[in-house]
Amino acid sequence: MQTITHPLSAPHSPVSFQLTSHHYGAPGGRKAYIQASLHADEVPAMLVAHKLRSRLNELDRQGKVKGEIILVPAANPIGLGQVINERPFGRYDLSTGINFNRSYPHYAGQLKERLQGRLGADADANVALIREELRALTAAWQPHSDTATLKKALLAMAIDADIVLDLHCDLEAALHIYAGTPLRQAIEPLAALIQSHATLYTTAAGGEPFDEACSRLWWDLAEHFGPSIPIPPACVAATVELRGEVSVNYESARADAEAILRYLSLQGIVEMDSFTLPAPISAPTPLEGTERIDAPHAGMLVYLRELGEKLSVGDAVADIIDPFTGETTTLRSGVDGVLFTRLSHRYVIRGMNVAKVAGAVPFRSGNLLSL
Ligand SMILES: [Zn+2]
Repeated sequence: MQTITHPLSAPHSPVSFQLTSHHYGAPGGRKAYIQASLHADEVPAMLVAHKLRSRLNELDRQGKVKGEIILVPAANPIGLGQVINERPFGRYDLSTGINFNRSYPHYAGQLKERLQGRLGADADANVALIREELRALTAAWQPHSDTATLKKALLAMAIDADIVLDLHCDLEAALHIYAGTPLRQAIEPLAALIQSHATLYTTAAGGEPFDEACSRLWWDLAEHFGPSIPIPPACVAATVELRGEVSVNYESARADAEAILRYLSLQGIVEMDSFTLPAPISAPTPLEGTERIDAPHAGMLVYLRELGEKLSVGDAVADIIDPFTGETTTLRSGVDGVLFTRLSHRYVIRGMNVAKVAGAVPFRSGNLLSL
């Protein structure tokens, strides 16, 4: 195992940030990249990475790491330093207001030009050439801020990986996963192992999140070059939401880490004792079928249903009570599906997202993620 420190700050800065990555195995074979807490204070993800680090150290000592694994146990040191009035504030870069998990470069456009006339009928050769170009494009990125330097450092480690797992958490949530539609089959074993309550697919979520920067270019290129040039979805990237921000306990962190290692073992990247794949607890659904239930007015928020519950159209999800008049509005599900996120505070203003329900019938388009 090798630990690498990546400096993020330039000279003359009053503060200096650095990123840490742990590298297991050797380059050349199958590669997995796992990062935790791109939104900084999403502690369940960092705790899973903590458990992964000790398990990987053990597997490495036993010679059971067969491919290459990069673990970034705290992917956002800049965000970890952002605290406002005693509350961590890790979702957005305070210097720009930009979400740390948005606005990653989508290299498909540049690759379409650079690869013209250079790809052939050999899928493996195409994958190797595309990865070579991706490494070059990432290396050529000239960041002009500490946050851009961080994004470049993370992407440079992930861009040529076979598996990319971006570990996050929501406010209050049942475990759920976001991934690209062409990866649906590849993600199924992970969803079963980690017992995902909602696995949400789309070909493009909007906003350029980190997982899509690694994965979406593959199906964009396949579509562009057509069937005579085989280009598989060679990077299986997923955003894994490890429940809510206070779902911090050793038991689930250990189980999640073990599920991830088992998934990597199915990919031939680590060697594990044999196990039986558990049955999935949910069927995958299109992200376009997820309903956002937003507050129509301000008030006290009282939930009527628990996370992970299956809802039918018209089921009451929460009440919002005007504290001055007592008038109450009941919010109802507009779809049949699974309640998978809730807010972590209980007073809302108009327009706040109160809950999300994963439905199976697509009805949304455009930007599908929260800001
Ligand atoms: Zn997050």
